[in-house]
Amino acid sequence: MSMIKVSADGVFGDQEGEQFGGTYVPQELELPLQKLNEAFQHYKNDEEFERELQYYLKEYAGRPNPLYYAERLTKQLGGAKIYLKREDLNHTGSHKINNTIGQALLAKRMNVKRIIAETGAGQHGVATATVCALLNIPCTIYMGEVDIERQALNVFRMQMLGAEVVAAKSGNRTLKEAVDEALNDFSKNYEDTFYLIGSVVGPHPFPLMVRHFQSIIGREAKQQILEKEGRLPDLITACVGGGSNAMGLFYPFVDDAEVAIVGVEPGGKGIESGIHAAPLSTGKPDIIHGFRCYVMEDADNCHSIAAGLDYPGVGPEHSYYKYIGRADYVTVNDEEALDAFLKLSKTEGIIPALESSHAVAHAMKVAPTMQKDQIIIVSLSGRGDKDVAQVYDMLQERSNLQHV
Ligand SMILES: *Cc1c(COP(=O)(O)O)cnc(C)c1O
Repeated sequence: MSMIKVSADGVFGDQEGEQFGGTYVPQELELPLQKLNEAFQHYKNDEEFERELQYYLKEYAGRPNPLYYAERLTKQLGGAKIYLKREDLNHTGSHKINNTIGQALLAKRMNVKRIIAETGAGQHGVATATVCALLNIPCTIYMGEVDIERQALNVFRMQMLGAEVVAAKSGNRTLKEAVDEALNDFSKNYEDTFYLIGSVVGPHPFPLMVRHFQSIIGREAKQQILEKEGRLPDLITACVGGGSNAMGLFYPFVDDAEVAIVGVEPGGKGIESGIHAAPLSTGKPDIIHGFRCYVMEDADNCHSIAAGLDYPGVGPEHSYYKYIGRADYVTVNDEEALDAFLKLSKTEGIIPALESSHAVAHAMKVAPTMQKDQIIIVSLSGRGDKDVAQVYDMLQERSNLQHV
């Protein structure tokens, strides 16, 4: 039996203690979510569906990707062996495609006429627009007006892929407003519309559904490490925005008590500055976007150099793992992530996404404190090509500071 307690309504935890997840939505969303859950429960056990999913993961996304032994990095740090799970090698450059293929195939089975999604920095929007092109399903992406300005290239990518990008113009005009608009569209049009959410967040059944599609990361990693080392790792680690690449890696190891699990939240400009995106490390249980989880106290200060980690809430299952002590959550700040970005690029010839660099930075911190025969697996959630211009600017700023 698994140590993870989750009810049929997607509530993690016991009645006596804190509970996370669930469904806190306006009444008009209850029926659409129920219909979605029924379809998910049905197709996740459907052989033909599973075969189609595996086909696209292999032939289109390029799975399985390698579990790569970062030998030079390991030797330089002089401690535990570091393995990288290479989600950066997937089509479109990150783990996001695992989830968008899965949900889009489900949408196809449900015979919807259109798919909608929210996006912050644009990565999930691009991954969604990609599979919608592949499966010939009309696609609408909601994006905050401010994000549309900041991420013009990703907006253009989505448009090239045939998606319509709609600006969310209320409030701060960023990710939160994009989610609100997408949920609103879904509640009005659910008869023919599928809402394809981007992480292990939102009301039930989204966290369980996204975990299901992302768990391929951990299942492959487990098989690969057993082949290479003949045993399980001592530590697995991943960056946590909403928490989907982390949950994908963690979940298949959760009942292996000998495997330590560490999620890495973005510490931004430093926890004491208040400018970060680390709800698990600093927040309190509350409700956001229709579910219960740890939430940052001051969501207006939500910041990370990695746009994909910039979310004031976090998946309910991570909240539960923290609460019961199954996983630890630590922070890595902007400067440390930038150093890890540069270090991995130079030592291994792999340019990681700034998001993934947070997990690499944590591995770099702890590997030297571990024995040489110990093993760390890091989720390399995405590639850093999208980040090189930003890193260039940050390095200019660093060298300017050094000259004053
Ligand atoms: C979006 C993104 C993340 C953060 O999302 P999670 O749901 O927390 O995994 C991390 N890494 C990359 C490369 C991303 O694009």
